[in-house]
Amino acid sequence: MTEAAANIGVVGLAVMGSNLARNLASREGNTVAVHNRSRSKTDELVADHPEAGFIPSFSYEEFAASLTVPRTAVIMVKAGRATDAVIDALVEVFEPGDIIVDGGNSLFTDTIRREKAVRETGINFVGMGVSGGEEGALLGPSLMPGGSDASWVTLGPILKSIAAVAEGEPCVTHVGHDGAGHFVKMVHNGIEYADMQLIAEAYDLIRRGTGKTPAEIADVFAEWNTGELESYLIEITAEVLRQVDAETGEPLVDVILDQAGAKGTGAWTVQTALSLGVPVSGIAEATFARSLSSHPEQRAVSRDLPGPVEGLNVEDADAFIEQVRLALYASKIVAYSQGFDEIRAGAAEYGWTIDLGAVSKIWRGGCIIRAQFLNRIADAYDAEPGLPVLLTAPYFVEALGRAQEAWRAIVQQSAAAGIPAPAFSSSLAYYDGLRAERLPAALIQGQRDFFGAHTYKRIDKDGTFHTLWSGDR
Ligand code: NAP
Repeated sequence: MTEAAANIGVVGLAVMGSNLARNLASREGNTVAVHNRSRSKTDELVADHPEAGFIPSFSYEEFAASLTVPRTAVIMVKAGRATDAVIDALVEVFEPGDIIVDGGNSLFTDTIRREKAVRETGINFVGMGVSGGEEGALLGPSLMPGGSDASWVTLGPILKSIAAVAEGEPCVTHVGHDGAGHFVKMVHNGIEYADMQLIAEAYDLIRRGTGKTPAEIADVFAEWNTGELESYLIEITAEVLRQVDAETGEPLVDVILDQAGAKGTGAWTVQTALSLGVPVSGIAEATFARSLSSHPEQRAVSRDLPGPVEGLNVEDADAFIEQVRLALYASKIVAYSQGFDEIRAGAAEYGWTIDLGAVSKIWRGGCIIRAQFLNRIADAYDAEPGLPVLLTAPYFVEALGRAQEAWRAIVQQSAAAGIPAPAFSSSLAYYDGLRAERLPAALIQGQRDFFGAHTYKRIDKDGTFHTLWSGDR
């Protein structure tokens, strides 16, 4: 019989699970039990990292027996059926009071369902968003746990010890109950899609507008990374643009096929936003831009569609690049504002209490969207926790005021030159939609009442009205 000696366990030892297990094992006081469906990954991990002192197990019974009570296990397997299979197996061998943490990229509605089902057995279930990829898992991820307050009491200290640290604070907070952690992770990924698309549009405009080489544009991004755009994504963009293909000697970015992949979290963010009625147009455009790129057959037959004869006409490259920078910054503010709006709406819909300032703080380290900028979001929510629209916080109003003229100029120029900038332009349209005193929605209400007697409200008196339109049948 295995002696119960581990205070925490990890199930699923592919890249994320094995790195998280190593991270856990490197912290004072932890002994880590490890288990994987197929034996080879466990053997390999234990053999490669004797310093970690892992306790391997080859059945769920053995795994449970190797953990001290109350048992705590983190699952890092494929989202979907695999996660359900592992949860079912753990529920069989765990006891009331034990804690099962799902650290995979699960859909938050699955997490809500699983939390409810597992809770009925007396076992605690925590859905936890993990960001930062394999390096983050090993060196310090950003962690977004949901679940009960009671689980957080046990898990909090362990998670704080392995999370990334930003400005002296661990990048983990108890986000909210049941699916709140996975919801926030989903929106994090959606924002990541928007951020990446905006950067890609900025690169494309600079390249087509100034004729600079990818290596020269890398310098532009490196320079941007010293200012208000400072972030991991801007930093790695410079690295990617500087990379030369070993085989051809060409810039690697010119050799990579221009079809963007996606694992689905952007689509989840947009689908959820649609059902919540929250306009996340920046994230949606970014997700659709990836879809458009991935249809080579449609792009091939569309290449000769008519477009403007003139390309971009840039006289002052430095001034143009500064305009692009400002357009990028303004659009980024919109994308984050929309993302936080979705979290606010999700919290209201699912009954979670989510501290939006705390969420922005735990994204400052470990995760892909880590950025200087997140401090400004935290400041905005610290000053006004109930802020209805993030971009109306004074700091962002000032930044948008500084950027908006350049932003409009860039959207105009890209449209005139036939260069797609969907995230730049949809973000600007959202911004102007928010600003509008009156929207043409009044006309839509009229149309709805005309064809479907859907009724409308008036600006001058209370009540619901229907007009007997001349076209009524
Ligand atoms: P993965 O490729 O998503 O999953 C492989 C792991 O799942 C293996 O351990 C595999 O076991 C196990 N597995 C698959 N089907 C199973 C089943 N029916 N029963 C039990 N185990 C099963 O691995 P990953 O890239 O390390 O990611 C793990 C989780 O973290 C995923 O949910 C992923 O979405 C999430 N995540 C990944 C990243 C990232 O950057 N990669 C970042 C954040 C979160 P076998 O070895 O036996 O096949």
